[in-house]
Amino acid sequence: MYFIVGCTEKKTEDNSVIVKSNLYDSEIKLSDENFKKEYYLLKKNGCKDLKTILEQELNRQGILLDQNEVKEKVSEIKAYFDRVLVLTIMPTEACNFRCVYCYEDHENITMKTDIVVGIERFLEKNYAKYNHISISWFGGEPTLCKDIVLRINRLIKSLVDNDKSKYTFTMTTNGYLLDEQSFLEYYDSGIVSYQITLDGWNHDKKRLLKNGQPTLKKIIENLDAIHKLPDTYKFNIMIRNNILAGDRDFSWYDFLNEKYGEDVRFGILVRQVCDLGGEGVKSLDLLHTITGKKLIKDHINYIDNLKIRCDNTGNIGLGNEMCYASYKNGFTIRASGKVEKCTVALNKSQNEVGYIDGYGNLHLDLKKNEVWSENILYDKCFSCNKIFSCLNNMCPFKRIMTENYICDNYQSFEDEG
Ligand code: SF4
Ligand code: SF4
Repeated sequence: MYFIVGCTEKKTEDNSVIVKSNLYDSEIKLSDENFKKEYYLLKKNGCKDLKTILEQELNRQGILLDQNEVKEKVSEIKAYFDRVLVLTIMPTEACNFRCVYCYEDHENITMKTDIVVGIERFLEKNYAKYNHISISWFGGEPTLCKDIVLRINRLIKSLVDNDKSKYTFTMTTNGYLLDEQSFLEYYDSGIVSYQITLDGWNHDKKRLLKNGQPTLKKIIENLDAIHKLPDTYKFNIMIRNNILAGDRDFSWYDFLNEKYGEDVRFGILVRQVCDLGGEGVKSLDLLHTITGKKLIKDHINYIDNLKIRCDNTGNIGLGNEMCYASYKNGFTIRASGKVEKCTVALNKSQNEVGYIDGYGNLHLDLKKNEVWSENILYDKCFSCNKIFSCLNNMCPFKRIMTENYICDNYQSFEDEG
């Protein structure tokens, strides 16, 4: 069977439909009513053979594909990502916040110099093997270890001769210590992308300092200062809002829109609070997975009507939805030097795949590592619009931990966006 997969669709003012393939960056414009009718039927039912002109053309453009073609493209994409190094580095596991839903233990462990040197040696020995190096700074709170962050970023930049196509550095931070001066130092070291959580008007009830003090005002001051930087500074700040059941006060988005709506460098991501472990989360009114999707959709619809960008949408580029834990060379390096795959399943035996030593050697249990990047496609993947962005690697942790796992992210083309 052939199905329409991996596409985005747009209607034009003259009532034509433009279908764009994310696989080849090609597109096809359908203006003729008969072609449009045939296309909508294909979207719904697929087809057994390529008989008609439209079927053949859609196939040529990488839009209408059968199982073998999908499998072949998935292996090509996977082969590319197998040569990407994706390190999530936790320079410290300590944090200056105590968020109510946090699942981490906040152990007061900061990376010792021998592990920092070990990471540097590993990079010096191996950087040339990879077609791209992606570093995500994570914690604990990474801004508590600015020196380590700057040091490793600068090394990578010098190894790849400052070639921006060879590296991506990002940071997940609570934003409290991200003042303008620090932001500029990180910017200079190559970090241009951040995820910062601000939990709306409830922020100060959910995301407190260790000593119980509020944090929203200071983070907003930091963001205001960053927002005032000239637009020659190119960066991306994704403001994440974690919602609970009944969170429907959209005036928070009006507030952000008023401040940053004209600034394309800012966007909003909405997620539901999940029980990832820890005691605090048990007292919260969490959203059910299914009803949660509906509420998140309402939030997205609201943001989509504002100037500020919504980061929940338009994410079906190649490999975009693969989790970093699913990369063959995707590793989380903990402050102790322990190497795991996923940042949520910390300390779970399946997740612990090795350690890095002070000489730059990565000691891996290859068998354990391999399980995380297996991507056996389900029948329904072949008609799922997300196939080339997900590769059945959206959440390997769920797949590994759940007996008879069934993906609940299937996206029919109609659901797109
Ligand atoms: S979202 Fe689910 S159904 Fe779609 S490709 Fe990924 S694993 Fe398959
Ligand atoms: S494997 Fe799943 S739980 Fe772990 S980081 Fe990836 S998406 Fe999150």
